[in-house]
Amino acid sequence: MSEYKYIDIHTHKNLEEFDKDVIYFQNILYPNVPKHDRQIVSIHPWSLPKELHETIHYLKENCPANTILGEIGLDKKCKVSEELQQLHFKASLEFAVANSLKAITIHSVKANDECLALIKKKKFKGSIIFHNFFGSVAQTKKLLEHEMVYLSLGEVLRRPQSKLFPILKEIPLKRLFFETDDSSFSIKEQYECFQQITNHRLDHIKKVCYHNYQNILGEHYD
Ligand SMILES: [Zn+2]
Repeated sequence: MSEYKYIDIHTHKNLEEFDKDVIYFQNILYPNVPKHDRQIVSIHPWSLPKELHETIHYLKENCPANTILGEIGLDKKCKVSEELQQLHFKASLEFAVANSLKAITIHSVKANDECLALIKKKKFKGSIIFHNFFGSVAQTKKLLEHEMVYLSLGEVLRRPQSKLFPILKEIPLKRLFFETDDSSFSIKEQYECFQQITNHRLDHIKKVCYHNYQNILGEHYD
């Protein structure tokens, strides 16, 4: 049996469903507050605080040091105004920079370039994880040119018709994570799905993703 745990880099599942072979990053959406080490706070573009100071206060009170912040980002298809999304995203990035956070998880819908441009503008130097990634071939290549970018694969592994599916094999494993988000599948099923698509050995996938996790966070928790 492999010594490497599975990494679920982005989930909203309940702790009761958690498995000891897996390291989870459970996203807690504003205004909820984390109660466990592995929970990370999320200023999700769908459920932003009304006022900017609430975002800042929430992050100061609840975002642990040395971990990931997010999901944060921009969503062109949601009802929240673009202006408000930008405001809270920028404040979240400023918080991440001021507190030297090691990584951020990005929720981006039709806004990859814009998210990346703001991250650069705010001079965030840590790792950037684009969650539930569904880009085109060109977008994928462009994002991966940025050496701190990781792509987290969720639903796309079950969508053979998506633009990304045919090039999944070509994405270097050292730039990938997997996630369950709010789905009904498990992280083990995600790894297995990727194994079937790419023919990588499961052990190899687990090892590389575990190293990715160590790379972004330095020390690991377990
Ligand atoms: Zn999510």
